[in-house]
Amino acid sequence: MIRDEETLGLLLDSVSRFVREQLIPLEDELAETDRVPAQVVEQMRELGLFGLCIPEEYGGLALTMEEEVLFAFEIARTSPAFRSLIGTNNGIGSQGIVIDGTEEQKRNYLPRLASGEIIGSFALTEPESGSDAASLRTTAVRDGDHYVLNGTKRFITNAPQADIFTVMARTDPKGKGGNAISAFIVEKGTPGLSLGKVDKKMGQRGAHTCDVVFEDCRVPAANLIGGKEGVGFKTAMKVLDKGRLHIAAVCVGVAGRMLDDALRYAMERRQFGQPIAQFQLIQAMLADSRAEIYAARCMVLDAARRRDAGGDVSTEASCCKLFASEMCGRVADRAVQIHGGAGYVSDYSIERFYRDVRLFRIYEGTTQIQQLVIARNMIREAGN
Ligand SMILES: Cc1cc2nc3c(=O)[nH]c(=O)nc-3n(C[C@H](O)[C@H](O)[C@H](O)COP(=O)(O)OP(=O)(O)OC[C@H]3O[C@@H](n4cnc5c(N)ncnc54)[C@H](O)[C@@H]3O)c2cc1C
Repeated sequence: MIRDEETLGLLLDSVSRFVREQLIPLEDELAETDRVPAQVVEQMRELGLFGLCIPEEYGGLALTMEEEVLFAFEIARTSPAFRSLIGTNNGIGSQGIVIDGTEEQKRNYLPRLASGEIIGSFALTEPESGSDAASLRTTAVRDGDHYVLNGTKRFITNAPQADIFTVMARTDPKGKGGNAISAFIVEKGTPGLSLGKVDKKMGQRGAHTCDVVFEDCRVPAANLIGGKEGVGFKTAMKVLDKGRLHIAAVCVGVAGRMLDDALRYAMERRQFGQPIAQFQLIQAMLADSRAEIYAARCMVLDAARRRDAGGDVSTEASCCKLFASEMCGRVADRAVQIHGGAGYVSDYSIERFYRDVRLFRIYEGTTQIQQLVIARNMIREAGN
């Protein structure tokens, strides 16, 4: 659903210009320094990009899902690490509070997340619990008006910069599976909370992950999301449903950028006396990529509209994440191929994008987990 074409058009235009004029020229610097430059963080704050998906009454722009994916198509046309900086405040780092938080929690945290004054992150994965997230081992034991958290979270995006963490922990030690899990907001600086060293990743330099460790970490009971035990896993799954659509949209955007770069290269590079773009085998790679990007774009927009209309899009969100992230990998591979040897060396951005986009098939639910979700939903629906 688009609420106001004109306002959205202005936002998308300014984001598109910001990407073209400010971010793309900084891609090499980002990769070399492993840091988003401070002036970019400031510009993102000024553009309101930290609060796109936070309700207006808490200082955000309250984009609908359709508006959000249109935004993601644009911001993703550059190094994904730029988007990652605002990704957690708009997505997994705030949506637990937006969807299920108490009024007090919303008033306390959302305005500061929306302005970019604080950074949020989402801590579900653990060393022994990845795809099987419901098997998580971090515990939260009630002690008076606090909960005492113990456990380790792994690969937590923006954790090194984060001011608050949405943490899923087991409140019923005997309970198995999701119904024994609750979600908490834990503030940086809480005694007993510490960070591991920053992970050395394959790509997406400038976006950081690390372990988050809880050792007898006392969290006020008022920070139990929604004030209710046992519903934290459901909160996490609702957050991820939305996140999967967002990541699928990012895949569409970045694939479009890689294809533009490959097309430009194919038209400039000459072999056998003509631009390589004239060879039909190169054209096939260009055409297949264009068709697949278009298909993914249509899927993402359709699922976003269904979600805005109030539908349950669990299956569609998984279909989008599965198809768009795999599509993005195929486009990256073809773009390297079209660049030939130049695609394998770091002078061209495609070598970097190839590594950056590999992540999309892994986080927020691997491709195999999306397949399982889709098939499980199909079987359940067929049984009813
Ligand atoms: C850069 C980065 C950022 C991340 N950010 C966050 C974050 O902010 N917050 C957070 O909580 N987590 C985050 N993660 C964690 C991410 O979500 C997990 O890595 C992912 O869910 C996979 O879990 P795993 O790594 O434990 O792999 P595993 O679950 O061990 O999977 C290994 C392989 O087995 C396959 N597999 C597992 N189960 C099945 C099955 N039942 N059937 C078939 N195949 C299966 C998987 O698809 C995969 O191919 C991040 C990860 C990375 C790398």
